[in-house]
Amino acid sequence: MTQTTMACTSSHVDPEIFFPGDPEQLAAARAICATCPHTRQCLADALATGTSDGVWGGVLLERGAVVAVKRPTGRPRKSAQAAA
Ligand code: SF4
Repeated sequence: MTQTTMACTSSHVDPEIFFPGDPEQLAAARAICATCPHTRQCLADALATGTSDGVWGGVLLERGAVVAVKRPTGRPRKSAQAAA
């Protein structure tokens, strides 16, 4: 990968969003990755090196597993538990 074409290395991008703490940060990171020409290689490198967390190639990894959504921290609301 050439760093100059990696959207996440822009000085205008907060690197913290690639380790999202909430769904909004995850969406922002995915939006940036969507503009990047290196998504496949980025995710492949992350998986090959055993990277456990963060957004790589637009995919969220948590504890080494691909997860679809970022759950907010803390306990789920009772209304959310009842709906599940
Ligand atoms: S796909 Fe990888 S290299 Fe490209 S913007 Fe996302 S995290 Fe950065």
